[in-house]
Amino acid sequence: KVWDQKLLQSCTPERDDGLVVLVTGAAGFVGSHVSLALKKRGDGLVGIDNFNDYYEVSLKRARQKLLLKQGIFVIEGDINDAALLKHLFDRIQFTHVMHLAAQAGVRYAMQNPMSYIHSNIAGLVTLFEASKNANPQPAVVWASSSSVYGLNSKVPFSEADRTDQPASLYAATKKAGEELAHTYNHIYGLSVTGLRFFTVYGPWGRPDMAYFSFTRDILKGKVINIYKGPHDRDLARDFTFIDDIVKGCVASLDTSGRSTGSGGKKRGPAPFRTFNLGNTSPVTVPILVEYLERHLKVNAKKEFIKMPRNGDVPFTHANVSLAQTQLGYKPTTNLDTGLKKFVNWYVKYYGVPSTKTRSL
Ligand code: NAD
Repeated sequence: KVWDQKLLQSCTPERDDGLVVLVTGAAGFVGSHVSLALKKRGDGLVGIDNFNDYYEVSLKRARQKLLLKQGIFVIEGDINDAALLKHLFDRIQFTHVMHLAAQAGVRYAMQNPMSYIHSNIAGLVTLFEASKNANPQPAVVWASSSSVYGLNSKVPFSEADRTDQPASLYAATKKAGEELAHTYNHIYGLSVTGLRFFTVYGPWGRPDMAYFSFTRDILKGKVINIYKGPHDRDLARDFTFIDDIVKGCVASLDTSGRSTGSGGKKRGPAPFRTFNLGNTSPVTVPILVEYLERHLKVNAKKEFIKMPRNGDVPFTHANVSLAQTQLGYKPTTNLDTGLKKFVNWYVKYYGVPSTKTRSL
């Protein structure tokens, strides 16, 4: 009963035309930021997260605490729990689902492939099922990934480019997710928007990502490994600051249009959309490290490794014209500025090791 009360409170919008959103992966990096942004605008929302231990659970708990302070309730549960989802959809008339729960990371797929199938395939279908069975059907916005462009793409990547050569199992599950999303749209009239995020970074980020682990290791005086791509070229990524991604997510929710249900034909088709959300300005990994060294005021101990790693693509670069036209999306934070904000957060959250252990 207390649980239901918290749920109702959290889902009550503070403005008349507020959205009512189920945010999955709300204790995650992107999910926590999107949740805070929605709450700030006066939308009603509830989060769900299984708090798995892919990376430090204490960071997820700290994000949950931050959200709770703002009146956002995050339920501990799995998106594969159909009964839990049914309970939520029976209690609350969600206008939207912001689906950010997933098993992320490219390399972990080699150790634990089934966790990707569990969250990114089975979990996605369980969530689509619950959404299509809900009355009214919410519009779903979900996170795909730039990794779907894989090995075979020309740059910059546009939404219509081929995505038939995923370079990792993670990428393959995102690609499969896009196909599943299309099915739910055309068979069941579910409004679905897939967002292909490009390497998101920022405060409260993910410890498994390079910019984060480099920061930790540079501060500890540990050697960082900088991998090279094919032909000994530097890897480059279209690093995108979290605030830009959040704006893209919120604009996607606002422009989602409604689901039409299986009788969709009478009312016209429900929207099915796919957008790149990137920064349009790739930066190589050695330059990323230079920025970190400057902001941390520490020289990194670097080792360059010539072998490309399985699963890594050599570069990513987003063309965001579609998102710009249809969502008003325009990234505004460059990598240097964004990393400064990340480093400030990092130092405040973790503290800095004593200067003795630093490699000045
Ligand atoms: P994250 O790991 O910080 O967040 C995902 C959250 O989902 C975690 O808190 C995790 O505990 C939760 N989760 C995982 N499986 C779950 C399940 N079965 N049930 C309930 N909760 C579950 O990752 P993130 O960086 O915030 O990524 C958010 C989304 O964006 C993911 O879909 C990811 O694949 C996608 N994405 C992220 C990036 C990036 O650079 N961060 C790039 C491309 C795509």
